Amino acid sequence: MRAFQALTNPLLDLVLPPRCAGCGEIVGAVGEFCGDCFVAVDWAGSKSCGRCALPLEMVDGEECAACMSKPGPVSATRTATHYGEIARGCVMRLKYGRRVALARTMAKAMARKVEEGREDAPLIVPVPLHRWRLWKRGFNQSGLLAKEVGRLSGHEVAMDALHRHRATQPLKQMSVNQRWNMVRGAFEADQRLVKDRTIMIVDDVRTSGSTLNACANALLRAGARRVEALVWSRVVH
Ligand SMILES: [Zn+2]
Ligand SMILES: [Zn+2]
Repeated sequence: MRAFQALTNPLLDLVLPPRCAGCGEIVGAVGEFCGDCFVAVDWAGSKSCGRCALPLEMVDGEECAACMSKPGPVSATRTATHYGEIARGCVMRLKYGRRVALARTMAKAMARKVEEGREDAPLIVPVPLHRWRLWKRGFNQSGLLAKEVGRLSGHEVAMDALHRHRATQPLKQMSVNQRWNMVRGAFEADQRLVKDRTIMIVDDVRTSGSTLNACANALLRAGARRVEALVWSRVVH
C-alpha cells in the first residue's frame, strides 16, 4: 500500500518500474498483474446476463430472471471482473497514488470487453462526480478509466456528457430502494453530445446498478438511442 501512496506524480508514475496492480510487486510492463494476483482475480467470463452482467451458470437464457421480469434502462452491461479482494484493492488504490498506471491496468481489461458483439461505435461517457467532491479529490476515477478505455479501444470519449447536479451521499450501507431514491434525478445529460448515439457509461464498480440506471435514464431523456455500461468490477452477491 505504501508503495502506491508515496507516488502521486502521474508522469513519474509511468517512468518508474511498473508494479502489479494487485500487490505492488515489480512486473514486466504497465498494465500487468503478477502471476499470483492474475490467477486470484475473478475475471468475468462470457456466460453472464447480457443486461446486468450477473454470471449465469447452467442457464440457457441470455438474461437473468430479474432482468427478464423488469428490464432496466441499461441495455447491456460488460464487466472485466467480479468484485473480490484484488478487484476491490484496485478500486481503493485508484484513489491514492500511481493512479495513471493503475487506471491503465484496469482499463486494459475493460477495453477487451468493448467490442464483444457490437456493430456500432459507442460514445464513452464516465459517471460524473459532483463538483465539490471533484474539487476535494482532484480527479474522477471513472473519468480516468473512461479516458484510458477510449485510448485503447479507439472510441470517442465525452468527459462532460453527464453532469451530477445534486451531491449524493455515499451509497454504501444503503438498501437497493434507498440507493435508488438517492440517485434518481441526480444526473443530467448534454443533448448536443448524446442525441441519437449509443452511449457506453464507464464506472469503476457496479453494485446495485442504481447509479448506472440513473445515468441511463438521464441519457435516454436527452435522446440517446441506446445505453450500455462498462465497469471494472461487478458485485455478485
Ligand atoms: Zn501481484
Ligand atoms: Zn440481469
